[in-house]
Amino acid sequence: MNKVELYRRAFRLLGNFTPLKTDCGVLCGRRCCHGDADTGMLLFPSEATVLPVREAGGRRVAVCGGRCSRETRPLSCRLFPLFPVPDGRGGLTAAADPRGAICPLVRHAAQVRFSHRFRARVAAVGRLLLCDADCRAFLEHVWAEMADAEALRSSLTADGTEEKI
Ligand code: SF4
Ligand code: SF4
Repeated sequence: MNKVELYRRAFRLLGNFTPLKTDCGVLCGRRCCHGDADTGMLLFPSEATVLPVREAGGRRVAVCGGRCSRETRPLSCRLFPLFPVPDGRGGLTAAADPRGAICPLVRHAAQVRFSHRFRARVAAVGRLLLCDADCRAFLEHVWAEMADAEALRSSLTADGTEEKI
């Protein structure tokens, strides 16, 4: 399967499912969309986008300035604030993404009742992406970054300077 079809399938899987049954953006003022000319969302391997792209360190980031058309937002935005991660039993599950500490749903993930359907679709997208060698390598890299972010968060929590997720 080529990347165009791969991401098309991923977008279809996620459909209009959202992290909560209600619009979480109303609760937080759409914090994850307060981008500027320098910040944006990490693109998956060869992921096409209508947004301007910034490249740094071999990574491609879609720069949105905090505005986009919902139909054309990148995959990272569609998955956020969850991300597919190994479940420890050879499969994948969906977990709050510790790289996104700006999000109250991430910071309070243990208390949040995420939509079961959204969680299931995020995990399903992960399983789909694992079928592609580039995406598998990308996921493994992101999982390492998530582990680093989680370790940092834990150390800050131990110091009492950051609330526990
Ligand atoms: S995902 Fe998090 S930061 Fe983004 S709108 Fe929802 S609650 Fe706010
Ligand atoms: S691309 Fe769209 S959904 Fe993603 S952060 Fe920017 S404004 Fe938000």
